[in-house]
Amino acid sequence: MLKKETIAECIRCGTCCMKGGPALHDEDKQIIDQGDIPLTALYTIRKGELARDNVSGGMIRLHAEIIKIKSRPDSSACIYFNDTDASCKIYDNRPVECRTLECWNTKKIESIYAQNRLTRCLVLKTVEWLTDLVQTHEAECSLDRIQVLVKNRESGDSTATCGLSEIINYDFHLRNLAAEKGKIAPDMHDFLFGRPLSELFSHQFGVKIEKSKPE
Ligand code: SF4
Ligand code: SF4
Repeated sequence: MLKKETIAECIRCGTCCMKGGPALHDEDKQIIDQGDIPLTALYTIRKGELARDNVSGGMIRLHAEIIKIKSRPDSSACIYFNDTDASCKIYDNRPVECRTLECWNTKKIESIYAQNRLTRCLVLKTVEWLTDLVQTHEAECSLDRIQVLVKNRESGDSTATCGLSEIINYDFHLRNLAAEKGKIAPDMHDFLFGRPLSELFSHQFGVKIEKSKPE
């Protein structure tokens, strides 16, 4: 980001957009409802996951989920960032964090940053079966549950490894089922279920997951 003292207004350089998409807040639901941001453009960082706190700059364990706009696969830039002219592809409908950020004066963004964050249940409010699916996955694969099992495993509890395998398998099979039977596009899974547990385990707990070989 630019040095605070060098500018007094946004010069639309795109530096903030290249660092990743914003977290969404309740008032951003309207942008989703009107179709300007599809669910395939979003992902969820679930309660209990480690995430960077953009205000403090440190990593924190989330007390509640956050929904964010995805980054491009090749970089950390927001998927709506157009780097040919450093513009935003949804500028007129950009989320509240993007409209509020003043990199030279962070007071405004700090005042809204942790307030009224959008949740999956609020986004899916009218789609009961998808809300049920999200809640069932969350109950079976909660980070609180995983955290306890990881600790027990470290303390030598041999049953904990089995418990963790069951959770990873559940996550894997539910995603497959959602795609095959529910016809839910795979690029919507990171919004509905967060990142796959096989990825999260190595990222957050340093536990490498190896698929068992077919017998
Ligand atoms: S708010 Fe973002 S786009 Fe505007 S000047 Fe700061 S870094 Fe650049
Ligand atoms: S939505 Fe637009 S303004 Fe916001 S981070 Fe993405 S590209 Fe930047």
